[in-house]
Formats: sequence, structure tokens, C-alpha cells
Amino acid sequence: MHELSITQSVVDAIVERSAGKKVTVVRLRVGRLSGFVPDAMRFCFELATDGTNLQGAALDIDEPPGVAHCRTCGEYFSLTDLILLCPCGSADVEVLSGRELVVASVDVV
Ligand SMILES: [Zn+2]
Repeated sequence: MHELSITQSVVDAIVERSAGKKVTVVRLRVGRLSGFVPDAMRFCFELATDGTNLQGAALDIDEPPGVAHCRTCGEYFSLTDLILLCPCGSADVEVLSGRELVVASVDVV
């Protein structure tokens, strides 16, 4: 379960930067093509934040679809899963976004 290690590193990074202030909301952007399962991350978040200044914080996960560019027909289209096929049928596509895992913002009090 790689969600545990990535969630732990996100929590560690926020703990380090929030300097002991109480964190109430963490917003993540997890691209649909990142391979991370948001529900698993929510579960791991509770474990990882236990006993830290993030304990009890809400985890808000935005899951933007990916964007790809087809080298065959030149179209830009969105991707909601890892099946990299253009509507024209070509698999010669370049993924432009959707693999990111980003801390979008953090609320502290
Ligand atoms: Zn195409």
C-alpha cells in the first residue's frame, strides 16, 4: 500500500513547515492518473496525523482528470483513467497532466 508512505511524507512535510501550529484543513490535488487511491489516503491520513499538530484536520482531496495531447490527430482530451487512448483511436498520446500529487493548501489557526 504505497498510499501509506506517500501520505506519511506529505504529513511529515506539513508538520515540519507548520511549526507546531494547529492545522485544520489539508487540501491535496491528486491527479486521476497518479495511481493513488484517495479513500486509502484518507484512511492513512488519520493514522499518520495521530499525535501531531495535524490531528483531527480535515483532508480535502481534489481529483482532476488528466489532460493528454494526441500526436496523431492533434486533439487535446481529458483522461479519467490509465487507458491512454485518444477518441480518434490512436494510442500515440502524450500525457500533459494528471499524474501530480500536490499539497494545494493548508489552513492553520
Ligand atoms: Zn487522436
